[in-house]
Amino acid sequence: MRLVTFEHGGSRRLGVRTGDAIVDLSQADASLPTNMRDFLAAGESALSSAKSAADKGEHTIPAADVKICAPINNPEKVVCIGLNYADHAKESGMDVPPEPVVFSKYASCIIDPGDKIVAPSVSNEVDYEVELVVVIGKSGRNISEADALSHVAGYTVGHDVSARDYQLQKPGGQWMMGKTFDTFAPLGPDLVTSDEIADPGNLDIRCILNGETVQESNTCQLIFNVQTLITYLSHVFTLTPGDIIFTGTPSGVGMGRTPQVWLKEGDVVVCEIDGIGRLENPVVSD
Ligand code: ZN
Repeated sequence: MRLVTFEHGGSRRLGVRTGDAIVDLSQADASLPTNMRDFLAAGESALSSAKSAADKGEHTIPAADVKICAPINNPEKVVCIGLNYADHAKESGMDVPPEPVVFSKYASCIIDPGDKIVAPSVSNEVDYEVELVVVIGKSGRNISEADALSHVAGYTVGHDVSARDYQLQKPGGQWMMGKTFDTFAPLGPDLVTSDEIADPGNLDIRCILNGETVQESNTCQLIFNVQTLITYLSHVFTLTPGDIIFTGTPSGVGMGRTPQVWLKEGDVVVCEIDGIGRLENPVVSD
């Protein structure tokens, strides 16, 4: 299923994308939660109710008549993995890490497809990063690699917008400030349930800046795959439904180019993963 969060008629609720239409889950089953985090926490019963509503195909709204939102905008955790493609570690001038590099963003960074990325005037080095995003569906701690994918609700596309000067040149020596400006986590459009993704480790991924492909890779290039990341993270904290994991970006970011490329007013960034979706956001300056 392609689960969506959408706005229509003044309210924000959940649906299933079927071709050019959205099945309105609130109309199909009024007992279903209207936000994705609660929906995922409701587990298998909510998923099967959504599936039967999608199969019936009633209560549809043309997709063109709704605003598609980020599939989830209130996760408990937004976990991010750095330097998880070998070619990106190299272009960043850093070694391939022996274990995952983990940092976080705040949920307040999340914006919808089509919303404006605001390049802050205090940064001169705002960069793009396309990433596969894992959405957790089932709680767990100390999850084994064999069980890891059973904790995944699905996948979406994320854009880990990064102010490199704040990420790399501040005295704290860690990345958070450069990653957490408002609007720095475009997400969506669809949450594609894991049953539709045969192998999250074999997905073509790319970023297109103003019509030019600037990042192009495949998730088979991930140093630490989805299973390994879930196991690694869950040894530290409980993963809960709705938590999202940005899995890292391939090479081609603006920082690694000659000359370097930084996002500016008027740019349009498309982040795309085959079989999952296309996330487009314009850039403005504040
Ligand atoms: Zn990233």
